[in-house]
Amino acid sequence: MTPSKIIRSKRRTLSISINDNAELIVRAPHKLSIDKIHDFIIEKEKWLNKQKKIVNKRLSGSFLDKDMALYLGSLFPIKTAQCQSNKLTFNGEEFLAGSSEQEIISLSLKKWYKNKFKEVAIPRLTYFADKYNISVNQVRIKDQKTLWGSCSSRNNINLNYLLIMAPMYVIDYVIIHELVHTIHKNHSANFWKTVESMMPNFKEAKSWLKEFGYKLRKL
Ligand SMILES: [Zn+2]
Repeated sequence: MTPSKIIRSKRRTLSISINDNAELIVRAPHKLSIDKIHDFIIEKEKWLNKQKKIVNKRLSGSFLDKDMALYLGSLFPIKTAQCQSNKLTFNGEEFLAGSSEQEIISLSLKKWYKNKFKEVAIPRLTYFADKYNISVNQVRIKDQKTLWGSCSSRNNINLNYLLIMAPMYVIDYVIIHELVHTIHKNHSANFWKTVESMMPNFKEAKSWLKEFGYKLRKL
């Protein structure tokens, strides 16, 4: 198993875990060699596979579970709060729904997702566009059943708000992918080279979408 992330710090011991996206996360002291880390992973392979299975099983259910909602790659509980409006809020740990009716919760969650995606994605797009000197015509946030993003011949970019359920690096990847389409209107080798130069780990994001993307569309 290859780690998705190795976090180095001042800690003294090595720790490995499987996060909510079934990725292997390693926490290691600054000086510990990669070989030692790999040895440790091999030693724990059996346990890791078991953990991964559990998380994958959880992930294989619909992300819009009756009482859980996905936000930036993590699942949060939805609780019903007694209040006048049907508004849905998020306090950093849980969603508070103003109604216990499933249909109302679902609608208000969609609304919340859409607003949140705008809030999260637009500044990221502006950041990458400025950083790489890319000019974009118009950016629209859409409900799309089939596409995560698109870029027109006139450099209008559309982004799918359902991506708010994906981890941040996946959102970044889709944004970068569409920004690169303003330069290359195809998926040529040069296109992918440019994507990689902006995001060296873009393949991880691609495989996340391949593996879990269809679940986001169930909303
Ligand atoms: Zn493309």
